[in-house]
Amino acid sequence: MKIVVAVALAAMSVAGLQAAQVEAPQFETNQIETARELRAVALESNLGYEITEDLTTRIGNRLAGSENDARAVEWAVKKLESLGFDRVWTEPATFPTWTREHERVSITSPVEQDLVSLAIGFSPGTPEGGVEAEVVMFDDLAALQAAPAEDVAGKIVFIRKRMERARDGSGYGATVAARSTGSMAAAEKDALALIIRSVGTSTNRFAHTGTMRFDAGSRRIPAAAISNPDADQLERLIKMGEPVRLSVDIGAQVNEPYTSQNVIAEITGSKFPEKIVALGAHLDSWDVGTGAIDDGAGVGIVTAAARIIMEHAERPERSIRVILFAAEEIGLWGGRAWADAHKDNIENYQLAAESDFGAGPVYEISARVSDEAWPVIGAIHAELEMLGIAMGGRTQARGGPDFMPMSIHGLAAADLSQDGTKYFDYHHTENDTFDKIDPAEMAQNVAAYAVLAWLAAQSPVDFGSGPGLVDTSEE
Ligand SMILES: [Zn+2]
Repeated sequence: MKIVVAVALAAMSVAGLQAAQVEAPQFETNQIETARELRAVALESNLGYEITEDLTTRIGNRLAGSENDARAVEWAVKKLESLGFDRVWTEPATFPTWTREHERVSITSPVEQDLVSLAIGFSPGTPEGGVEAEVVMFDDLAALQAAPAEDVAGKIVFIRKRMERARDGSGYGATVAARSTGSMAAAEKDALALIIRSVGTSTNRFAHTGTMRFDAGSRRIPAAAISNPDADQLERLIKMGEPVRLSVDIGAQVNEPYTSQNVIAEITGSKFPEKIVALGAHLDSWDVGTGAIDDGAGVGIVTAAARIIMEHAERPERSIRVILFAAEEIGLWGGRAWADAHKDNIENYQLAAESDFGAGPVYEISARVSDEAWPVIGAIHAELEMLGIAMGGRTQARGGPDFMPMSIHGLAAADLSQDGTKYFDYHHTENDTFDKIDPAEMAQNVAAYAVLAWLAAQSPVDFGSGPGLVDTSEE
C-alpha cells in the first residue's frame, strides 16, 4: 500500500511538472529557428569588428566634451543611418568637462627617477612648476582616512593598493575608491598631491587614468596614477627607510559645461512598437589610446547585433533600440540624462543590456526580470548555451553602467558577462587600441546580443520591471 501511494505520488509530481512546463510561456518554433539562424550568421560575421575599427581609426579617442566627442556623435548618426535603422536620433546630455594638459611625476630623492603617470580626470592642476615634498604611503584609502592629519599635511600621499586580476573584474570595485575619492580624502588632511598605484592589472609601464568624483564645494588636490612597475619601484624605495621625495607637476582644466548627445537608433516593432528592447554601449572614451576595448568594442557589438536582426529576421514584434551613450567615463552623464528623460515610461522597456567590458567572450547570462518572465530567460539561455554561455541566474543585473541610473527605478535588465581577465591590462591606458580585440571573440559577443535581443523582442510575456537595483556603479 505504501509503495502504491509512493508511485502514485511520483506519477502525480511528474504530471504536475509537465503541466507547469506546458503553462510556462513558450516561444514559437519559427522564433527559435530564427534565433539559431541569427546566431550562426553572427558567428560568421565581421561586422562588429569592422564598426569598431572604423570608429577607433576614423575618430580615435573621444573624451567627453572634446572636439572628437562631436565628431564621434556625427560618425554614429551617419553609421546608424547607413545601416538602415528605421529611425536615428539624438538626445542631449550636459556635463562638466575636463582637459588634460600635462603631467610629470618624478622621484627627486634619494634617487632621481621619472615615473610613468596619467593625471586622474577632474584633477586640478598644480601651481606653476609643480609641487615637491616628502611622500607618505598608505595601504589603501581607508588607511589614509584613518591617519592623523599631521602625518599627511604638507606631504604627497601615495596609495599602494593593488588590483587583483579576475574573470569578472571584481578586483576593480575593490580598488577603485582610491581613484574616485582619494583626492578629496587627502585634501581634507592638507596633503599637496595624491599619487595612486594604477587601478589596472598590467605589468607594463602604462598608467591607467579614470575619473574622480567630487561633491560640489569639496576641496580636491592634484592627483595622478602611476604605472604598476613604477608603483612597485616607489614602494620598494620607501620600504628601504630613507625619506623619499616626489615632484608632481600637473596641468589640467575644468571647463564650462558641454552638451553632447546620446545617439539612438531603432528597429520599429511590428506588433508592439511602443515596447522596447534597449541595447547599450558608450560612445565616449578616455583621451588616451583610441578607446577600443572601452568602449569601441561595445559600440560594434550592439550595433552589429541589431543590424544582423534587421537583415536576417522578420521585423521583431517589439522595437529594438541601440543607444550609444555620451560621457560615461566622466560620470555616467549620458545614462543619467537618458534615465531622467525616460523613467516615466519605464514600463515600456522590455529589457536593457549594455556591452561595456571589452570584447572577451561572454561566459554567463544573468537577469533581473519579473517572476512571470523568469522562465523566458531560461528559454533564451538554452539558445545561448552553444556559445559557451552558462546560466548565471536571477541576480542584481544592472544591464551595464549606463542603464544603472534607470535600473534603480526597476528597469528590467540582463547582463551578458564577458571574460574580463585581460580587460584591466588595457583599460583607460594609452594601450587601449584596436589590436587588443580578437575578431572571433567579438563575433561570439555579437551572436549573444543578437539572440538575446531577438528573443526578448519576441517574448510571449513582458519582462516587467522587477525590484529596483540596489547597487552602485564605478565608471
Ligand atoms: Zn566603458
